[in-house]
Amino acid sequence: MRSRLLVSQRSNRGRVIQLTHLEVQTGLFINNEFVEAKENSTINLDNPATGSHLATVSTAQVEDVDKAVAAAQVAFRATWRTTLPRQRRNLLNKLADLIERDAAVFASLEALDAGILYRDSVGMHVPAAVETLRYYAGWADKVDGESVQLPSGFGYTRREPFGVCAAIVPWNSPLMVTSWKLAPAIATGNCLIIKTPELSPLYGQKLAELVVEAGFPPGVISVLCGLGHVAGQRLAEHPDVWKLSFTGSPPVGRQILATAARTNLKKVTLELGGKGPSIVFSDADFENALMWTSAGITVNNGQICAAGSRIYVQDTIYDKFVAEFSARTRDAVAGDPLLSETTKGPMISKTQKDRVMSYIQKAQDEKLSLLHGGANEPGNFVPNTAFVDVGEDSIIMREEIFGPVASIARFKTEEEVIHLANNTTYGLASAVFTNDISKAVRVSDALESGQVTINMWGAVDANTAFGGYKESGVGRDLGKEALDGWTQVKAVKINVLAPKV
Ligand code: NAD
Repeated sequence: MRSRLLVSQRSNRGRVIQLTHLEVQTGLFINNEFVEAKENSTINLDNPATGSHLATVSTAQVEDVDKAVAAAQVAFRATWRTTLPRQRRNLLNKLADLIERDAAVFASLEALDAGILYRDSVGMHVPAAVETLRYYAGWADKVDGESVQLPSGFGYTRREPFGVCAAIVPWNSPLMVTSWKLAPAIATGNCLIIKTPELSPLYGQKLAELVVEAGFPPGVISVLCGLGHVAGQRLAEHPDVWKLSFTGSPPVGRQILATAARTNLKKVTLELGGKGPSIVFSDADFENALMWTSAGITVNNGQICAAGSRIYVQDTIYDKFVAEFSARTRDAVAGDPLLSETTKGPMISKTQKDRVMSYIQKAQDEKLSLLHGGANEPGNFVPNTAFVDVGEDSIIMREEIFGPVASIARFKTEEEVIHLANNTTYGLASAVFTNDISKAVRVSDALESGQVTINMWGAVDANTAFGGYKESGVGRDLGKEALDGWTQVKAVKINVLAPKV
């Protein structure tokens, strides 16, 4: 049950200078074994850059999810529950080392099935995943409770794992987002079932191999490729799953929350995207602001929950900024994400491309002013696109497009831009560009947003909480805050008896 994939890499303007073959397991990973799904259910994967068939992998049915949950429950109760924190630390560190060793393989797999640029994956996503595993490995023996004085004597609290937990992962940066959930879940002593995205599951097939090599006991980590409404839904409603962490679209997040409310009240954390404002004041370092705002809406084709898709520029520099932004972002080298000269990969799928193109069409129907882009290119490619003078009520200013489409608008005052930036149901990530430290602090205090970056965009770090205000989500990934989401508190109270005389 392996699939052989051809990787053509590191060409120099079309000349392929390295060809390699990768092999990945195609089965479901349960109890440290790769097994077929019920009735041999499979899904075909296409390469989003070429449309050609890539691999066929098993897809979990309800019964397969139940098997993984049962295996996790056995593992938790038999051994994992009492595993020493330092053993969990060592296993996470080992897994981090192995992912680092195989960084090129992961980057190739993410390029092949998710359309992520190889250089972005190998340079950012894989190192971020490695760092996240090491960060939480360091926490494994530091998740402590408190001791408290009581009328009866004293008591103490323990932070205990939930037991069997689930992670549902999106396709846009799958290895990195998986690490945000796997690392704190395992550090705190849970068993985890990872439902990989059906559009880009190959990284998970490789990760599963490394789980065995790292030495995790059977049942502690399961990896299931599966459809959202089948495997994802089963995890959401399963009575023996007590915590579920989800990253993806708002409608599915709401559905998972409703399912948890209807079933066993499992704890749910949700990361549901955003409509991030990038605010450029006229006193900002112009070149720096240009670099980050350009990256904020073009990296990974804008398929990033923290994308800076609304760009507000102060009126005195507006025209110059718009001209330079266009010069910097309008031309990209679209092509095979494995090749070094490519600066723009494909959208993940035709569905996603059609969705983005429909927003471009709506903007044109609204007679918005197109700065550049907008053309319907062949295959799954969407050109970097920007509209200027976009009004507050325009659909492309309000809704998450998840594509390389920038909505640019001018503002005059600090007060006005704070109102504009907060005029959204989302609240995940914002960026402020100014050389005035007091203004930077005032504006970041006023922004309704789980993250504010000053004079940069993005910057997701393992040691800093990441998650949304308002409808961008519930709970936090990353930082020490995530540990709270993977543990429950038990209070132990001791009645200190008087000596018997
Ligand atoms: P999605 O929400 O449909 O899928 C995300 C994950 O949830 C996948 O693993 C999917 O299999 C699973 N899922 C789908 N339906 C489910 C269900 N009923 N129960 C449980 N799990 C389910 O997202 P998508 O279709 O991949 O993308 C659609 C839109 O979602 C995008 O255009 C974008 O706006 C948004 N999105 C946001 C993020 C983010 O990082 N916040 C990531 C990916 C997509």
